[in-house]
Amino acid sequence: MSDPVLALDLGGTKIRAALVHGAEHDRAPHLERVAEVATPAGEGPAAILGAAGELAEQVRSGARVRAVGLSSAGVIDSARGLVTHATGSLTDWAGTDVVTPLRERFGIPVSALNDVHAHGLGEARFGTGRGRGSLLLVAVGTGIGGCHVVDGRVVIGVHGAGGHVGHVAVPEAEGVPCPCGRPGHLEGLASGPGIVRLAARLGADAALRDGRSLAAAAAAGDEIALEAYRIAGFATGRVIGGLLNVLDPEAVALTGGVHASPAPWHDALARGIEHDAMDVVAGSPVLAASAGAHAALLGAAARALDDLVPPP
Ligand SMILES: [Zn+2]
Repeated sequence: MSDPVLALDLGGTKIRAALVHGAEHDRAPHLERVAEVATPAGEGPAAILGAAGELAEQVRSGARVRAVGLSSAGVIDSARGLVTHATGSLTDWAGTDVVTPLRERFGIPVSALNDVHAHGLGEARFGTGRGRGSLLLVAVGTGIGGCHVVDGRVVIGVHGAGGHVGHVAVPEAEGVPCPCGRPGHLEGLASGPGIVRLAARLGADAALRDGRSLAAAAAAGDEIALEAYRIAGFATGRVIGGLLNVLDPEAVALTGGVHASPAPWHDALARGIEHDAMDVVAGSPVLAASAGAHAALLGAAARALDDLVPPP
């Protein structure tokens, strides 16, 4: 068996690393020595990359590895290994060269991919996308992101920004601020924190200040909490319906905190898709993601192996 890939997933709260075996086969790769540390998010890029490098070093210890595959928060220019844009969750992250320090440290090729893109690639190769020619991943959690994978390749876009599913305007979000600075986008309304704020605007009890208590209230039949989930689910479905019209993927995979959402969210999502998707694409399968909690590590590893093969 060939040497594994050293995969890293660098997020706003934690950094994960593992050895990934068998990511070159579109079957079942396996992870070894999965480890994680808290991200020193406020300490700047040198400290963050230092922590990632330390963790990767521990995970590699003694093993021969072929390449490093990095999944990272922020918009990534994969060709240059640069973070071109980032939210404030990692201090001074925009402008950081995430590849050179790791290449110097390990002396092997390093590939970098945005974390949602890595997640989407992992899902497309090893999860719901396996055996399918294309997949649209939609991740609804603290934010709303996505990734379109065609023939096993992520549609990254010219700026590395492809797949920003949360930053599409939807009527239900009219006037609602979005974290990107443009009002009216889906994410401001229908992300986890967006749903909590929506419930507050609808008059929810002040105690319902987080997703968990809101979900519990909905499960107990609280009408305002239920309405917030319905509005958010419907709006998310509308955006997915519109994307089906544009992209016509073979399937949609849903991931993020959505699995914790109460049934009315899922019902409303289906109605939203039905509302906006053209008949020809309305029946496209919308499935729960199945590549597991380490999909981004798998995707980062797969991309690192792709990059070892020179383009034709
Ligand atoms: Zn936005």
